[in-house]
Amino acid sequence: MTRPEEVIPYGFDGTAVLKQRPDALVFPRTVEQVAECVALASTSAVRIVVRGSGTGLSGGSVPLSGGLVLGLTRMDAVLAVDARNLTLRAQAAVTTQRIDEAAADCGSRLGPCVGQVGTFSSASA
Ligand SMILES: Cc1cc2nc3c(=O)[nH]c(=O)nc-3n(C[C@H](O)[C@H](O)[C@H](O)COP(=O)(O)OP(=O)(O)OC[C@H]3O[C@@H](n4cnc5c(N)ncnc54)[C@H](O)[C@@H]3O)c2cc1C
Repeated sequence: MTRPEEVIPYGFDGTAVLKQRPDALVFPRTVEQVAECVALASTSAVRIVVRGSGTGLSGGSVPLSGGLVLGLTRMDAVLAVDARNLTLRAQAAVTTQRIDEAAADCGSRLGPCVGQVGTFSSASA
């Protein structure tokens, strides 16, 4: 996506003062598509910023200037829950709330988290 009305909402996050307009957005669905985007951007010297839900409060998902926003929101599946070993495998954009719900299904909890719509991978990173 490259039209102004499409890219403008991805030029800021939960940080009130920071704002930039990316040149383009991509929303991969698979790991292979992520790798393809990164390889293409790398060979073309295009800057990438990874974005989860865009709720961060320190401008981490705001592009520096132009460049490509790699939006991960379509990669939001919980892949496997192993109740016995208390482990869970999920794609990058699963929210902390969803992780908590999946854990609750097998009698465990992620624990309280205020920013529930934020992605777990971003919180971890
Ligand atoms: C109401 C509210 C309450 C909040 N409460 C808390 C809180 O209690 N504790 C707390 O820690 N934070 C809190 N936050 C901040 C925010 O929700 C968290 O920082 C959350 O982890 C951001 O997730 P996100 O998916 O929105 O990340 P984004 O804002 O999209 O990205 C944040 C950073 O992570 C990077 N990133 C995103 N995805 C990945 C990935 N897959 N791999 C590597 N890097 C990645 C981005 O490039 C960026 O630098 C709160 C925010 C709000 C609005």
